[in-house]
This record gives sequence, C-alpha cells and structure tokens, in this order.
Amino acid sequence: MENILWKFIRGDMPLADFTQWLYTTKELEPFLGEDLHLDVILTNFENRNDVVNLQEILANYLIAKDPRACVCVRYADLSVIGMESDDPDDAMFLSVVKERKNFGDPYWWLNLYSCNVCKQNWLLAQEERMNDIYILKRISAVDANLIYQENKWPASFRTYEELLKIGYDHGVKFRFCDPLSSSLCYLVADLIKERDDITPKEISVLLNLDEETAKEIYELASNPKRLKQYLEEDVSYMKYGVSSAQNDPTVWQNFKEHCQKHSTSIIIWCLIFVVGRLLSLYFR
Ligand SMILES: [Zn+2]
Repeated sequence: MENILWKFIRGDMPLADFTQWLYTTKELEPFLGEDLHLDVILTNFENRNDVVNLQEILANYLIAKDPRACVCVRYADLSVIGMESDDPDDAMFLSVVKERKNFGDPYWWLNLYSCNVCKQNWLLAQEERMNDIYILKRISAVDANLIYQENKWPASFRTYEELLKIGYDHGVKFRFCDPLSSSLCYLVADLIKERDDITPKEISVLLNLDEETAKEIYELASNPKRLKQYLEEDVSYMKYGVSSAQNDPTVWQNFKEHCQKHSTSIIIWCLIFVVGRLLSLYFR
C-alpha cells in the first residue's frame, strides 16, 4: 500500500495506473481514514496543481504515520541532488547511503551505493564537471548483486552527455563565468569524442552557453592541435596568476602597462624589503 502511494507521490507511476488502483483497492479507505480517502477520490487528476497538492498531502500523511521510514522512499526512481544542497532530506539521504563499488575508468563517475537503513540500492553518477550534482537511479537487489559480484553494470549513465542532459531536464543550469576556461574546453572535446555529430547548438543547451560561445569552443575543441596549443597557453598564463587574461586583451594590456609604469617603485620596494630582512637578521 505505502509503496504504491509513494510511487504516485514521487511521480514514478503513470496517473492512469494510479487512478485505476485507487478505485479498485478496498483497503485504501481504512488505511487513509474516511476524510483523506474522500479527498483522494474527489481529486481532479486532469489538473496538474490538484495532483501536486494531493502528492504533498499524502507525503505528509505517510511521513507522520511512519516517521521512522527511511528517507530513500521520498526519492524518485531518477533523482538529482546538488552536491551543495541545503535540503535536510538530501543531507539525511547522503548520510544513510554508502558507496559499495566504483566503476573506475572509463566511467569514473559511476558508483553503486546502498542504503544502510532500508537496503535500497542506487546507481549514482557524480556529475562534477559542469553542475556539481549527484544523479541517482533506483536499482533492484538483483542488479546490485550483478554489479557487486560480477562487475556487470546497467547500461545507464555511460556518457557524460547523458549526465548533462539529466541535469538540464531537472532544471540544473550552472553557468561558467569563464566559458573559455580549460575545463570547459576539455569537457566539450570529450563530448565530441563520445559523439562526433554533436552540434554547437546542442552543446550550447547542455552547457548553458550562448550559441556563439558554444560555436567558438566547439571549433577549438574539435581541432586537437589548436586545442593543445590553446590549453598550453592557458596553463602558462595560469602559472602567473592571470588565468583568463588572454581572453580579454584589455585586461592583459592594462596589467602589462601597470607593471611597466610602476617598475621603478616595484624595484625600490623590493630593495627596501631585502635590506630590511638582512638588517633584522644581522641584529637578532
Ligand atoms: Zn534508505
């Protein structure tokens, strides 16, 4: 009974199946009580707001009825949790699930997790190159055993594009302040490697970029020689602490002019510092 109600609450059950179950399950009225049962029966399932409202009422009812039930039951079969989420449910969830196995290369983001409380198994992907999210998929004990004992993993979450798409579908839209940074260029290069007919427009959607910037990164990332040269320049700039200056010629120009203009005072201050250190060592 609770399982089917939770499936409806999480959106993991087609509405037609739920309404059919509703009208044919006699045990529901004694389980919910007369008033709540009447509310459920009278809900207009064609109206999205009424359905969401009912899902909330039923969730609160079930949590109050069994407060010790594990938090796993509140997560949809396919869920997304922000790595920095401040939702108490997410914090509780992440404290009860534990890693049992990691896929390793080439799908380093893929893990098998199990709940210490209710024993529910989860396929968990760490999407930390773009949105910093955990993507969860509820899996059966049989599938979990295949992973754990025979290293046979389900086909889900095998491409980074899939992870980005799930993040996008769940409304997670992080934006890089420096889109031409090396990490985003590497990511686009890997997306092209995964699927060579991916378009700049698709990249712009997945990575929350405007189309022009996506095209620029796409052209850079699809030319290995140019990408290597660009990234080497990026790294050399980063060593001097002006990582993104090359993307903005005016910033770099100003920096150079500033150094030239103040070179004499910089040298004098350095000399004062060195002499001061020497004197303090001498008189110690
Ligand atoms: Zn659990």
